Amino acid sequence: MGAAPKRNAAGLAPKSLLLNGAMPSASEQQHTLGKTAGFSGTSLHTGEKVTLKLHPAPADHGIKFKRADLQDEPTIDAKIDNLKTVERSTTIGEGSVRVHTVEHVLSALSAMGVDNAIVEMDANEPPIGDGSAQPYVDLIKKAGTAAQEAPRKFLDVREPMHIESKTGSLLILLPDDNFRISCTQAGPNNRFTQYLSTEITPAIFEREIAPARTFVFYEDVQPLMDKNLIKGGSLENAIVIRGDAVLSKEPLRFADEFVRHKILDIIGDLALVGHRIRGHVIAVKPGHGANAELARALAREQTRRSAMAAPHPFPPGEGGLASDEVMQILPHRYPFLLVDRIIGFEGETKVTGLKAVTINEPFFQGHFPGHPVMPGVLQIEAMAQVASILLFKLTKTSSRVGYFMSADGVKFRKPVFPGDTLIIQAELTKARGERLAKTMCRCLVNGAVVSEGELMFAFLNK
Ligand SMILES: [Zn+2]
Repeated sequence: MGAAPKRNAAGLAPKSLLLNGAMPSASEQQHTLGKTAGFSGTSLHTGEKVTLKLHPAPADHGIKFKRADLQDEPTIDAKIDNLKTVERSTTIGEGSVRVHTVEHVLSALSAMGVDNAIVEMDANEPPIGDGSAQPYVDLIKKAGTAAQEAPRKFLDVREPMHIESKTGSLLILLPDDNFRISCTQAGPNNRFTQYLSTEITPAIFEREIAPARTFVFYEDVQPLMDKNLIKGGSLENAIVIRGDAVLSKEPLRFADEFVRHKILDIIGDLALVGHRIRGHVIAVKPGHGANAELARALAREQTRRSAMAAPHPFPPGEGGLASDEVMQILPHRYPFLLVDRIIGFEGETKVTGLKAVTINEPFFQGHFPGHPVMPGVLQIEAMAQVASILLFKLTKTSSRVGYFMSADGVKFRKPVFPGDTLIIQAELTKARGERLAKTMCRCLVNGAVVSEGELMFAFLNK
């Protein structure tokens, strides 16, 4: 199953999670910059001078690039939908407007915890600096960060995902409570193979990742140099590897600087998802192309989830029951009524109900602070309530009432999170007169079974 090990399917957490489970903290609020800050430098591809300024922006604004050198100063959303090319660096654009090499500044903003900002430039590319994310980290620290009212948008990885490219890149994404990257980098003929695994926090990024510089293999850049396509490129802003020799103005900052820079690039490319990822990226020979593919897959998953979480229009007269009709049958009331409405019946023996699981459910407050999952026993209760409606229809009498007797073969397959829409199905498998009934029940989220069990009911006079 694809659940994170710390959130097992029954919604029970191991002790360590309970002890470490933090209350919602400042790190779960959106952040922007404290004030505007800027610096100037050379752009890599044109070799011209460029000034970059980071400005604060309101909550839910996201990161936008602004081309101050063009008429009307157009902006471009740093979103994967705006991705244009991934040749050597990441280019985004809207209409005919482009910004190139956005990955290092995006990496710094994302990893240093800036959710909302305007990146203003008077050229089509940020200053390359020393080829690392260090100048942007310095700039963010100069501007400072400020917490905002809105909660951060997280994308929790629930199922393993993977991307494999023809060029030999492999990216695997696994569930995790934090954002982690484990990366293996290998050059041509596996020269300079390096491996690093780390959680990404602002402190770790600043110390271990941001200073790692861009590196190039001589055989890859020679044709570009010949075509004069990297006018701003020099040993001051990139490390050049020629054969087994490492050429740079400044010695290596880390023995494994190359894999660190690959991690820097992954963070920057995945920032285009627009949500903070809680998951573990395992990357083998990553590149902008594969990184962008993964960002696209994650953005699609996010869109799918928000569509599923949206209220389902429920056409009346399709044999379902609206919430007031459900409450005429079931005695349960908030917070213990665990079915919002009945979507429909199939013959006399099948019924499907729906429960929108929102962050406001009272049980999420304590189950668990900072890691909300729906308790498994409440999923069983939801099944029992939906099954009861089926039995009520069957007996067609209000003088007898079904009591929940036993649950067999109960399995919890995946955790249920706030925002999920629980589809609850019950099917009558055995009825003995008007005394006993067996039902097979299951709960689904996004078409996948999250829990199931066989519930037995006894009918008693009221
Ligand atoms: Zn890079």
